[in-house]
Amino acid sequence: MASNSDPLIGLAAGRLTGPLVRALGLPRPRVLRREAGPYGSDELRGRQLVLTAMPGGHAGEAARSLLQALGARLLMETDLAADASARVDIAVLDATGCRELASLAQLRSFFAPLLRRLAPCAKLLLLAPCPLEAARVSPEAAAAAQGIDGFVRSLAKELGRSHAATVNALQVPVAAASALLGPLRFFCSARSAYVSGRILRLDAGQALYASPELPSVPGRLRERLAVVTGAARGLGAATAARLAEEGARVLCIDVPSAEPHLRELARRIQGDALALDISSAAAPAALCDWLRQHPGLAVDVLVHNAGITRDRSLFKMSEAEWKQVMAVNLQAILAIDAALDQADLLAPGAREICLSSISGIAGNAGQTNYATSKSALIGYVAARSAVLASRGATVNAVAPGFIETDMTRQVPWLIREAGRRLNALSQGGQPRDVAEAVAFLALPESGAVRGQTLRVCGQALMGA
Ligand code: NAD
Repeated sequence: MASNSDPLIGLAAGRLTGPLVRALGLPRPRVLRREAGPYGSDELRGRQLVLTAMPGGHAGEAARSLLQALGARLLMETDLAADASARVDIAVLDATGCRELASLAQLRSFFAPLLRRLAPCAKLLLLAPCPLEAARVSPEAAAAAQGIDGFVRSLAKELGRSHAATVNALQVPVAAASALLGPLRFFCSARSAYVSGRILRLDAGQALYASPELPSVPGRLRERLAVVTGAARGLGAATAARLAEEGARVLCIDVPSAEPHLRELARRIQGDALALDISSAAAPAALCDWLRQHPGLAVDVLVHNAGITRDRSLFKMSEAEWKQVMAVNLQAILAIDAALDQADLLAPGAREICLSSISGIAGNAGQTNYATSKSALIGYVAARSAVLASRGATVNAVAPGFIETDMTRQVPWLIREAGRRLNALSQGGQPRDVAEAVAFLALPESGAVRGQTLRVCGQALMGA
């Protein structure tokens, strides 16, 4: 249902209607390439890769061997010269050796000649220096490292509209070069179709928890329990289904009034349903009770997805509207986490993901309550990350932009159109785009990503 809710994508792609869309000067969003099903061991089979390393880089070799092991075909300069029609699906620059201002010129000299060769929906990735390590080298090295941010964000804006391509960067400390698998696979595959202009930091200390081995069979979450709140519909339903595809047993939670949808979803993905208002005082204990009734189960993946809006300008906002949003979007999460911690029901190496929002980053008129709650989550995951580290567990936030769901279908047309178009890809995301980001953070091999907020927003201009 949601996938067809933006009529402009179909019109822009149509043979007869496409020229009309162009003549009218309307945005021409492209159909994004997306992947279905669980991660495969040959996730990048047939994709043409160009990869270069700046001198002194420490991540290029690991990236090259991982991407080739995932099935990408490495093109050499001679291949490109010999075949003018060869198209590049993935371009990776190891810029971890970028320590001098002069090195920044290589950003242009590597990417510029490739731009005419890019396949639609190409994936461009920079492996960037860790800012802390760069600052220890010299102020010039820190400047060079920071310069990469501006390059990534600008090129992402240029290529989003023209190629539906994404451009992202991973900051890779020296000790994290062996922890690249999860992030590299996500950003170089169609799983990150709606993630662009992002700079994600890898944590040096987490190489221990990140498996460098490639999964040999699909289903990275087999024999693991995932709990997803707000699972009856929208992003929660998509996330529960996506985690089940990776083999997880999923406990789907939603309010009692949504129980029929919840049960239907649980049946479809062979999971479990628990009707529970997470903002009720009894909810944390009820979840712990459910877990205790299933001996041997602890939470391996916890997705705090349930969320509500009660939009109104602050002037008119009632105390009840403020409190309801805080109770569901924020207090319930902290209460559930505290109960699971106390009962020791979070498995070692667990992955926790909180659904924030770009409203929590940029702010939004009429959403002081909602933005406060979503912003608070960003602070929460950053601090809780240190608490979970000793257990090899991680916590991150995902901040969706405009995603085509029941929640956004209720938004007035003009505001909805603005939300859809004011991003580098000129379209809203799909629930599966958010589900992919959650799945990425939920996998064992993403342990080097911690305490961060990953925006899934097509590089929305809001808060960019
Ligand atoms: P949605 O309204 O379609 O679904 C939310 C689900 O949460 C519903 O099934 C609802 O019944 C459930 N829920 C609400 N209160 C609950 C409670 N007290 N206990 C248990 N379940 C409860 O929303 P969505 O669009 O799928 O959004 C999911 C999450 O993503 C939310 O946290 C939302 O704030 C966030 N988000 C969504 C968007 C978007 O564009 N859709 C953008 C940014 C952030």
